[in-house]
Amino acid sequence: MSNDDLRVRDFSSVVFFTGAGMSAESGVPTYRGAGGIWNEYNFEDYACQEAFDRDPEKVWDFHDKRRAMALSCVPHDGHRHIGDVLRDLPDALVVTQNIDGMHQRAGAPDDRVIELHGSMFRLRCDACGVIEHNVAHPLVPRTHRCGAHWRPDIVWFGDMLRMDAVQAAADAIARCDLLVSIGTSAVVYPAAQLPALAAQSGATLIEVNPEPTPMSELYPHRIREKASVALARLCA
Ligand code: NAD
Repeated sequence: MSNDDLRVRDFSSVVFFTGAGMSAESGVPTYRGAGGIWNEYNFEDYACQEAFDRDPEKVWDFHDKRRAMALSCVPHDGHRHIGDVLRDLPDALVVTQNIDGMHQRAGAPDDRVIELHGSMFRLRCDACGVIEHNVAHPLVPRTHRCGAHWRPDIVWFGDMLRMDAVQAAADAIARCDLLVSIGTSAVVYPAAQLPALAAQSGATLIEVNPEPTPMSELYPHRIREKASVALARLCA
C-alpha cells in the first residue's frame, strides 16, 4: 500500500507513539538541538534527584517556567486528529514520551494516554509518594501537607521509568495492528525499543518525521512530513 492510501481508521487496534517532535508545531521547546533547553540549562542542576535534594527551590523555579511555557502553547491540528481517532476507535491509544499534557488538552481521554516519562502536571510527594494533578504556576505551596516537598511526577535523568506504564505500553504495542510513530528521534531508551514489538507481531508500522532517525529501517512506511500535515491525511 502506498503512503498516500494509508488510513488509520482502516485498522482496528492502533497505537500512536509520540515524542517531542509531536509538540514542536505547538512551540513547546525541545530539550536537545537548536533552541533546546539543555543548551541553556545544565540538567545536573535542574533535572535529577540529586539536584532536587540539594536545592528543591531552584529545581522548582525551573519547573514552574516549564509548566508556564507548556500551558502557553496550544495543541495543533495533529493533536486534535489523534484525539478524534481515540474517541472513534475503542482500541486506539497514545504512548507518549512527552510530559506536556498536550494530547489530553486536545481531547484524548486520560485513560487512553500512557505517559512513559510522566507528566509535568502531576505532583508526587517526595516522601509519601501521594500523586495529585496540578497546573498551578508558580506552584504554591511547594510542600505536601506531610511536610515534604512535592516533585514533578516526571522521569528525571537517573530515574527509573514506572514499570506499570512500560508494561501497559509494551502490551498495547505488541497486540496492535498499526503503530504510528510521530516526532521521536528514537535515541532515548527504553522507549525507543518499544516499536520493535509491533514489528515482531506483524503490525503495519509508519514513521512520521521530517528527518530520518536511527530506527527508520524498522518502518516500512516513512512519511517525511510534519506531524500536523501527515496526521490530517492518515486520520481522515
Ligand atoms: P527528540 O527531541 O530527541 O526528537 C524529536 C524528533 O522530532 C526529531 O527526530 C525531529 O526530526 C522530529 N520533529 C521535529 N519537528 C517535527 C514535526 N513538526 N513533526 C514530526 N516530527 C518532528 O525527541 P524524543 O525522541 O521525544 O526524545 C526526547 C526526550 O525528551 C523524550 O524523553 C521526551 O520525553 C523529552 N521531551 C519532551 C518534551 C515535551 O513534553 N514536549 C519536549 C522535549 C523533550
